[in-house]
Amino acid sequence: MKVAVFSAKRYDRELLAAANAEAGHELVFFDDLLETSTVALTAGCGAVCVFVNDRVDAAVLAALAGGGTGLVALRCTGFNNVDLKAAAAQSIKVVRVTEYSPYSVAEHAVALILALSRKIHRAYNRTRDGNFELDGLLGADLHGRTVGIIGTGKIGLVFARIMAGFGCQLIGYDKIPNSDFEVMGGRYEQLSNLAARSDIVSLHCPLTPETHYLVNASALALAKPGAILINTSRGGLVDTEAVIAALKSGQLGALGIDVYEQETDLFFQDLSSTIIPDDLIQRLVSFPNVIVTGHQAFFTREAIGKICETTISSISAYAEGGPLVHEVHASFKSLPYRSADFSWCENGGDVELLREACVGTGPIAQERPLSATLLRSSRRTGATLEVRRSSASLEVLSTEHQAPSTSYKGPVLRPGYEVLPRHAKRGVQQPSASC
Ligand code: NAD
Repeated sequence: MKVAVFSAKRYDRELLAAANAEAGHELVFFDDLLETSTVALTAGCGAVCVFVNDRVDAAVLAALAGGGTGLVALRCTGFNNVDLKAAAAQSIKVVRVTEYSPYSVAEHAVALILALSRKIHRAYNRTRDGNFELDGLLGADLHGRTVGIIGTGKIGLVFARIMAGFGCQLIGYDKIPNSDFEVMGGRYEQLSNLAARSDIVSLHCPLTPETHYLVNASALALAKPGAILINTSRGGLVDTEAVIAALKSGQLGALGIDVYEQETDLFFQDLSSTIIPDDLIQRLVSFPNVIVTGHQAFFTREAIGKICETTISSISAYAEGGPLVHEVHASFKSLPYRSADFSWCENGGDVELLREACVGTGPIAQERPLSATLLRSSRRTGATLEVRRSSASLEVLSTEHQAPSTSYKGPVLRPGYEVLPRHAKRGVQQPSASC
């Protein structure tokens, strides 16, 4: 299949081409973003492959459909840049990379903390200039510090585990508490308590209307004076102007960000020879206690390898008319949710979605046949299925006659869901994450 690959950097070209070696799709690479002015480049392509900042809106989708393109393959987890309803209306399928290394982002957050707290960025510049003075480089031990983690999903949990290894106290805040976090010694608190008690706050929740500007002037006023704020999640979680004010007053001790609310016009480009009109980012990078990286947290060999592999396998599945296990449906809504219907699960692809609905997006392949068996049996007997989660197990129960007839225990990634399917209805909500 001929595939137009947009926002294609050198590494995208190399690694997608390598992942495509066996499948043999015809990949046509473009540096440009996919948007209305570039959509004509997709002529003759059965699929387009896009990244976080491509603008796959209704107009682009209409043009794609008109040109015979039937698949949008996202090289990322998030799908906030795709108008899913318009895609469905145009009968265009959308696939994403359901998951890849959560270690990449968690480890990047830790790298920012270490660099800021030990002033590595400043020492690096000094020693290159022959300055071996220590004045101004006084750091602080991480051991014994309190770390507040907002969002204890896949990345938040990995981050928590690393920080526990440093001997930090862990405080968490999440709409859906995860007992794995408590097992490693973490404690859930209200957001205000987390802010007041944490020496370091790291954001690992998705951007939703509810979390937009979660870190604003009032939250910063509650923070422990001199705290470090880390955001590797989404720029819109943080009110940048409020953060700049807090840095200027000293209320915020340091800031490490990999994401920025206006990043679309800046990141993934070399603007070093241009005048950057964005005053906020310019002010941020001028602080000695701020480190900005350009959305690189996901950028490890392991993560990119997995992204390319999954993308090519989705394109192959589409070309062969097979089930699209990483399809994003227009009816998907973002977390949090605690219950969902899944009695519509009919085939392998849908059972894969059931797996996501039940356990987040972890690699728990063994649940697939189990779920299928249970679903078949429940359809036959009309029984209700119930999925219960605890810290160490996922239990799938058939609750016919009020008594469990089948159960399964296995590893789980994210406890907290109860799934009680009663009416056939398509529309399981799934975690929304983004690259
Ligand atoms: P996840 O879905 O596994 O975890 C997100 C957690 O946030 C869940 O536990 C969820 O319950 C919680 N949450 C949702 N709404 C909340 C709210 N209102 N308040 C508190 N907690 C809430 O996602 P993940 O894979 O851990 O990814 C987390 C985020 O990391 C993504 O949403 C994405 O924005 C970001 N990310 C960034 C990069 C990067 O390169 N910088 C790469 C991948 C992901």
